[in-house]
Amino acid sequence: MGKSGLLLHVCCAPCAAGCVERLIAEDREVTLYFSNSNIATEEEFARRLVSVEALARIFRLPLEVDPYDHAAWLERVAGLEAEPEKGARCPVCFGFSLERAARRAAELGVGFATTLTVSPHKSSRVIFEAGARWEHFEPYDFKKRDGFRRSRELARQYEFYMQNFCGCEFSLR
Ligand code: SF4
Repeated sequence: MGKSGLLLHVCCAPCAAGCVERLIAEDREVTLYFSNSNIATEEEFARRLVSVEALARIFRLPLEVDPYDHAAWLERVAGLEAEPEKGARCPVCFGFSLERAARRAAELGVGFATTLTVSPHKSSRVIFEAGARWEHFEPYDFKKRDGFRRSRELARQYEFYMQNFCGCEFSLR
């Protein structure tokens, strides 16, 4: 049987490294999809992208970049600005990026998953609920099997940029 394709929504390189390693071990044919219009500034978006480009080179994977459109993201989360991190804004934020990944995966005729589940700061259940809107969403729980620790280990090894906030301006407070 040939490898099965997967579009992997990537939030950042330190989270993606362990996910990519696992998917390659499972013989998935991975395309990276950097879609992160939630990030507060274009400078920060570019900073995270540099490490994702390095990740793509290291693992020899194709990378697609969804153009930065923070205005559209702000419109989607309007009214939820005052919510705390892990509050009601975050599932909407997940849905925003997953919707874009879902569209691209459908064009490519493959399933899609997200590196967001590797973080212990994010509930995999909430992410799966956001992804359940699409039949071709694959609920990979990357924090399983010590995924986060392994991902950080690889990120240190490859000297990826490690941000200290989630992404949006409201997570900076
Ligand atoms: S805190 Fe993180 S997950 Fe929540 S809305 Fe902001 S960027 Fe999105």
